[in-house]
Amino acid sequence: MNIHEYQAKQIFKAHGVPVPAGGPATSEREARDLLKEIGPDVVVKAQVHAGGRGKGRVVKRDRASRVYGELIADPEKSEGQIVGRRRGGVRLASGVEEALRELRPMMDKDSRLVSIQTGAEGVPISAVLIEQQSSIAHEYYFSIQVDGANGQPLIIASAEGGQSIEEVNRTNPRAVLRVPVDPVEGFPAFRGRSLASRLGLPSSAIRACGDMFANLYRVFIDMDASLVEVNPFVLTSEGAVLAIDGKVGVDDNAAFRHGGYEDWRDRSQENPVEIEAEEANIGSYIKLDGNIGCVVNGAGLAMATMDTLMLHGGEPANFLDIGTVNRKDRVVEALRIIVNDPDVKTIFINIFGGLARVDIVAEGVVDAVNELKITQPLVVRLNGSNVEEGRRVLHDSGIAVQTADELGDAAALAVEAAQSGRRRSRSDN
Ligand code: GDP
Ligand code: MN
Repeated sequence: MNIHEYQAKQIFKAHGVPVPAGGPATSEREARDLLKEIGPDVVVKAQVHAGGRGKGRVVKRDRASRVYGELIADPEKSEGQIVGRRRGGVRLASGVEEALRELRPMMDKDSRLVSIQTGAEGVPISAVLIEQQSSIAHEYYFSIQVDGANGQPLIIASAEGGQSIEEVNRTNPRAVLRVPVDPVEGFPAFRGRSLASRLGLPSSAIRACGDMFANLYRVFIDMDASLVEVNPFVLTSEGAVLAIDGKVGVDDNAAFRHGGYEDWRDRSQENPVEIEAEEANIGSYIKLDGNIGCVVNGAGLAMATMDTLMLHGGEPANFLDIGTVNRKDRVVEALRIIVNDPDVKTIFINIFGGLARVDIVAEGVVDAVNELKITQPLVVRLNGSNVEEGRRVLHDSGIAVQTADELGDAAALAVEAAQSGRRRSRSDN
């Protein structure tokens, strides 16, 4: 799960990481109060769970997909440091009135922030962060993440900050420093100072910078984070170091240690269908880009199902892993979520019964077709516990369903149904 920049900065501040003065506003009133307190020179920043805001755009919802197309057509121009007039999600302003002019479009409920990271629909803007403007002498990059291959945290830092680190790594790999961290030893300030001097910070800023790195490492540990990224932290023209951006991703597996991270969660930034699946307590649901809705049991089977669909030229619209269910109504609830997704042109149910009995799943499928009045083509492949009974249930029900015993055959049927569905809807238009 990701949290907002303003929340990351509250956590930074509590851990002794220097951040600009400021705070979030969700109304013009709150904005005015903040502006009077910290103005006149401010930066206003759209709060969304996505990066690339500086070079993104704030637009009305109905223009989002066109603007997204323009941005991805030229990604080089659409990320990194901002030059020229800022019409994106990060804007500089002087004085209350100018700041309000810049942030009003961000507060409009009908606005979306679109960047190369948001997808074509853009994302709603949850709040506006208003901060004192910094005068920047140099921008640096710093992040901590879990390096799965080495089983330890990894710090990545660069003196070429403010732009995407992937891009720096591509064009100038020597400018990217990698520092593995022994989790037992942690990352004390003296190691932070050594990294700061390798980055070329002036000697007068080394101590503060080393402390900042050590404190960011404490944020990483205390939050059970999977990522802490500060792009950029800056050296100001007064010679201070300051985290002017902040991104924290936390590990959902540690949610139980943090009250479910409820204090930090913003559901408006999440996919509504994924939330629905979570609230209905139906396994795990992940939204994807294709048009075949998949209901499976078990993560391994989900992977195999998606691979097989793609091998046959299909594109999954999601994967919904219902786990081990032995209740018909759970199957109906799962299918309700799939059916409500307008992208789903065909439904593919692939169940291998171990502890789950496929005859009960089959009864759930029949109930779902009748209760939900499912109109999309339905392909079902059942195997495992009570498979004979399960196939008989489907056959005797009289519902419109295609079945196959082998995964490859079933996947081919699903892909064909999705493609002919698409052709039909094209010629309808
Ligand atoms: P992002 O585009 O979503 O990563 O948003 P950032 O917070 O990183 O801001 C993008 C860029 O805006 C930074 O790399 C800076 O170049 C610029 N910027 C942000 N805040 C300030 C500020 O206070 N003063 C100045 N001069 N530039 C800023
Ligand atoms: Mn940034």
